[in-house]
Amino acid sequence: MNVPFVDLKTQYLSIKDEINSKIQQVLDSCAFIGGKFAGEFEQNFARYCGADHCVGVGNGTDALHIALRALGIGSGDEVITAANSFIATSEAITLAGAQVVFVDINPETYNINVNQIEAKITDKTRAIIPVHLYGQPADMDPIIDIARKHNLKLIGDAAQAHGSTYKEKKIAQLTDITCYSFYPGKNLGAYGDAGAIVTSSAEWADKARMYANHGRSDKYAHEVEGVNSRMDGFQGAILNVKLKHLDTWSDNRRRNAYFYNEKLKDVTIVTPTEIDDVRAVYHLYIVRIPDGKRERLQAHLKENGIATGIHYPTALPYLEAYKHLGHTESDFPHALKASQEIVSLPMYPELAEEQIDYVVEKIKSFAL
Ligand SMILES: *Cc1c(COP(=O)(O)O)cnc(C)c1O
Repeated sequence: MNVPFVDLKTQYLSIKDEINSKIQQVLDSCAFIGGKFAGEFEQNFARYCGADHCVGVGNGTDALHIALRALGIGSGDEVITAANSFIATSEAITLAGAQVVFVDINPETYNINVNQIEAKITDKTRAIIPVHLYGQPADMDPIIDIARKHNLKLIGDAAQAHGSTYKEKKIAQLTDITCYSFYPGKNLGAYGDAGAIVTSSAEWADKARMYANHGRSDKYAHEVEGVNSRMDGFQGAILNVKLKHLDTWSDNRRRNAYFYNEKLKDVTIVTPTEIDDVRAVYHLYIVRIPDGKRERLQAHLKENGIATGIHYPTALPYLEAYKHLGHTESDFPHALKASQEIVSLPMYPELAEEQIDYVVEKIKSFAL
């Protein structure tokens, strides 16, 4: 049996007719950049997120960077984020002209360690970017308290967490601005690059839209220099079709995660921990393999047709790109250890129980 890491083709085939006819409509109307289809998606997605505004942009990295700009954060400012994420999170801070400040993770959830945030706050700190990594919301209540106390802005990185909730609230309702990626492999994926900025502030939404469109307030009236980062019509149309299926797909991801948890119960590997009262949407299903056996397990699974991944093999502060920050191994011990032990097993909505049984059987046949 072959178990791919993700399977975009099967999902496409399940919605093929609807997608193809929408693509034809975009062609017929020539609404290629922004326009009707992107606009409809912005409205639908804002409503889905429980927010008033959505600004479609070119990708998730731009969404984060533009959100920082919209909040007036840039040169001379510091922004705090988690040591374990995809580089886009910290890249966006640097792109905005601000300084990245990393905080170690909670070793059970792999999200930002809320007890270590305050120690990193200085008089230059302007914002915190909690990342809802792997689809599980960061522990937002304490983060919101810290932000209030120190007058900091909150930008959620929800690139892996479309549709997740925290204590009955949608994650976009917990931060000043929430940023999404619709990279094809994300839980809500376009068929190309796309991203969105979601907020209930008309002021920030207007600023973000202006900044994402060359800083223009009118066709050739440019208030500031911005960037060119707009959602295209094809992606808007495709995302509109896919949004209707997102909750079902998330339910299927959750079902698959709980199948894995149950079936791996007697195996000596660490399965994911959900914090109380959240709806985690399992962009990735992460297990921990201690004692340096990870690479051998991955090779064993590969020999049996099972694809795995590592998200991420190097914690952000230890990447070559951040060498200049001069961090040492003792600065982020939990992020460092996790990066050496985590493996991502196949996870996508269309993954069948028989495939999960097969993955579990092959994990069991490996001497752990
Ligand atoms: C994918 C991702 C991004 C960036 O999104 P792009 O659309 O690829 O630019 C940002 N943050 C996290 C956590 C991601 O997984």
